Amino acid sequence: MTQAIPISQVALDPSCMDNYDPNSMSVVNARQFIKQYLNPVQQAETLPIRASLGRVLATDILSPANVPNYDNSAMDGYAFNADDIVAEAPIHLAKALTHLKIIGTVYAGKALDTTLKSGECVRIMTGGMMPTGADSVIMQERVTVESDNITFTEVAKRGMNVRYAGEDLQQGQIVLAAGHMMRAADLGLIASLGLAEVSVYRKLKVAFFSTGDELAGIGEALKTGQVYDSNRYTLYGMLSRLDIEVIDMGAIADDPALLESTLLAAANQADVVITSGGVSVGEADYMKLLLAKHGQVVFWKIAMKPGRPLAYGKIQGNNGSAHYFGLPGNPVAVMVTFYQFVREAMLVLMGQPNPAPLPMFKVECTEKIKKMTGRTEFQRGILFADADGTWKVKPTGSQGSAILSSMSLANCFIVLDESAGNLDAGSLVNVQVLDGIV
Ligand code: AMP
Ligand code: MG
Repeated sequence: MTQAIPISQVALDPSCMDNYDPNSMSVVNARQFIKQYLNPVQQAETLPIRASLGRVLATDILSPANVPNYDNSAMDGYAFNADDIVAEAPIHLAKALTHLKIIGTVYAGKALDTTLKSGECVRIMTGGMMPTGADSVIMQERVTVESDNITFTEVAKRGMNVRYAGEDLQQGQIVLAAGHMMRAADLGLIASLGLAEVSVYRKLKVAFFSTGDELAGIGEALKTGQVYDSNRYTLYGMLSRLDIEVIDMGAIADDPALLESTLLAAANQADVVITSGGVSVGEADYMKLLLAKHGQVVFWKIAMKPGRPLAYGKIQGNNGSAHYFGLPGNPVAVMVTFYQFVREAMLVLMGQPNPAPLPMFKVECTEKIKKMTGRTEFQRGILFADADGTWKVKPTGSQGSAILSSMSLANCFIVLDESAGNLDAGSLVNVQVLDGIV
């Protein structure tokens, strides 16, 4: 549990929202409402940098030194002092006249202990430390060499081809700020500073379970009227894409006592509890009563398809309150509501103050789409490159909220906003790419 906030202090009251209608809650309003209650984890731990991949920084990383550490050459060439550049004729006629004597060589990783005098230069390799007395480097392709003398074949400028100390990062500068999620480049960046460990927030703990009398476990023979519980597997997969500790509480029958004990066990050990099924009208009674008894939870019908029923709130656990997300039972609806509401909330709880939403951009849809106005639809789509390399999208086919194969086929959501109606083939539509997150 993150913080011991007694449930009585969590005023979960959406009724003051403009045009609040629990039977037709817009996706945007639901997201905003949830965001107000997300209190990120506070505890931090120190990890070796490789283990920090996917975790969120708990403190700013400051550069302990300048990067690069010393002025060095950006090219293989010759280091020289610009005072030696011979004044040029008008620039369009310029044929450099500078002649310099080579007095040594600098390789990357080794310093030269001689100071350059007037009329001298040093052969230098990329990354080589600039010798004292030199302030510029001419590329080796821009000189002619005769025994130990060079002649410039182009006009040289003071400071050319030098990378200065601190040019990338200055000592004491914030390199990565607290709240940043560690990615591959960041591991390298932190290693480039010589740091071995970083302070990150502890892992968020998320417990989840499926609800439904009709659910059978994989490995069991299906009885009449049963379906295999697939939601726990998609949920496991979606949560595991984030660096989260997942706690699978199983599939629970629609039995009030069992549901209650599972809900409490989940709230006692996790920061977040996610359930699937049992929150739609008609069968919501058990969950609704239980959630009212042990916390504050709001039930909505979201103006979206799939994913209409959704519950959000807080449940009182032993050590404080756990966030609660009640997702619909239909397998596609579980995934859509996870990506539209839960994923971003998890990122906030993990310590990222303003996680980027899933990127969305417009492409042409090659097929016509049936769509009712008044709700946001998340159709499953396939982004593909057409013959001339332009990216376009087409729906996966049947869009029923129980057709999980549509999610396996899809590489994006086609997001059709509330005001949109039927669309002709060739219309521009918004897409959210799922590759890399699903
Ligand atoms: P519910 O929201 O509980 O009314 O469930 C809606 C639909 O989703 C029903 O057809 C359920 O059988 C199905 N469903 C619920 N939970 C699961 C699950 N864990 N795995 C697969 N299907 C489910
Ligand atoms: Mg059910």
